[in-house]
Amino acid sequence: MRTGASGGTADAVVVGGGTVGGWCAWFLRQAGLGRVVLVERDVMGKGASSRAAGMVRAQGGTPWAVRLGMWSQAFYRSQRQEIGVDSGFVATGYLMPAFTDGQAEAGRARVAMQAALGLDVSWISPDEAAELFPAMARGAHVGGSYAPGDGYVDPPRNVVAYATACARDGVEVRERTEFLGLRWGEDGAVAAVETSSGPIATERVVLTGGPDMASVGERAGTRVTAGGARHQVAVTEPSPDLAPERVRMVFDLTEGMYWRPEEGGVLFGMSNPAEPPGPARTVDWPYLEAVRSRLGDLLPSTRGLGLRRVWAATIEYTPDHLPIVGPALRSDKSPMPGVTVACAGGHGMMWGPALARVAADLALERTTEVLDADALGLARFDAHGRSTLAADPVSLPYPERTDAP
Ligand SMILES: Cc1cc2nc3c(=O)[nH]c(=O)nc-3n(C[C@H](O)[C@H](O)[C@H](O)COP(=O)(O)OP(=O)(O)OC[C@H]3O[C@@H](n4cnc5c(N)ncnc54)[C@H](O)[C@@H]3O)c2cc1C
Repeated sequence: MRTGASGGTADAVVVGGGTVGGWCAWFLRQAGLGRVVLVERDVMGKGASSRAAGMVRAQGGTPWAVRLGMWSQAFYRSQRQEIGVDSGFVATGYLMPAFTDGQAEAGRARVAMQAALGLDVSWISPDEAAELFPAMARGAHVGGSYAPGDGYVDPPRNVVAYATACARDGVEVRERTEFLGLRWGEDGAVAAVETSSGPIATERVVLTGGPDMASVGERAGTRVTAGGARHQVAVTEPSPDLAPERVRMVFDLTEGMYWRPEEGGVLFGMSNPAEPPGPARTVDWPYLEAVRSRLGDLLPSTRGLGLRRVWAATIEYTPDHLPIVGPALRSDKSPMPGVTVACAGGHGMMWGPALARVAADLALERTTEVLDADALGLARFDAHGRSTLAADPVSLPYPERTDAP
């Protein structure tokens, strides 16, 4: 291990105190590394991770998505017992309704793929859905896929969980410390991390950054094809018709809208695919009202209810809606020794713990048992940011291009 930097020498430095960086730092420490330093330019959870809606779904459109979702759910379910903190996971059951015969056919094929991977999921009829989702409008759909184990976390509680786990188990968290770049050794491997509080010598770095992933990558000298876009979430006032067991969770894939129970009302979220990418600054009220009208069609009890909370925040996305995890690459696509990149592609609640574990495993061993991650690295993107992988069909309608450099 090299020494000589003012921040001392670390066995690993993780950039970013969101759910991916936070859990990754904790996994690295749990794996036995002596000194793990997490640098966060603001405070823990200040990025997307505290602002998420918390939807946790293993009903993915690709085997990668299903495996990441299943692993993360198992982690959430065992947290309290295994590590003494939890992210507030509630398994409420998640319906993905189809509105056309074509969507139903695609949905049934997905169910077969997901079930083959071990997910408890089935195709249910409109009548079966009506039993499970009594608050939903009858006749609105032609059936859907249903996974009883899907659910939601409480995002602020998840921030508390990883921050507590890190503090308790010896991760050195440095808030208000900005990552500025990397220093390289004569052997071409990473030698130190430059921060606003001085350098930290290390041979192992994990880069995260959520919606700012491209900028973190740029500072490290690697091009990360990830962007940021506005995402909006609203919570209705409570209503007796919206008890959690009447509402559960629903993803209207065609409209890119989802909902779940929240404090006696309903939380619903949406992304506008027609909107150019970029950071969220304000609430887009006309779009919110259009989606609210659609919500009223599908969940009639929400009509006329007031909103108690509304927020807009920047969500990260990748052009193929899949995560990025693997070695940082130079411009000639050769790996940067010692540097790993991890980006959840807008699914950090449902995939975050698993992705963090994959990043930690790759940083330590260059291999992981969570899933076959070979295809999920940066090498899949061409010079224009286009992916060689087909996009995951179960995703919010994010833009399919990025403003990444
Ligand atoms: C409104 C909204 C709703 C969402 N709902 C869901 C949902 O229901 N389900 C789901 O799965 N996902 C959801 N997401 C996505 C999810 O929140 C993200 O995928 C996840 O939080 C990403 O985690 P992260 O750790 O990669 O990024 P972040 O939480 O953004 O953390 C990155 C951190 O890096 C820090 N950072 C950036 N640059 C630097 C630097 N130079 N130096 C040091 N630190 C730096 C930032 O300050 C930040 O704290 C939602 C997102 C939004 C915005």
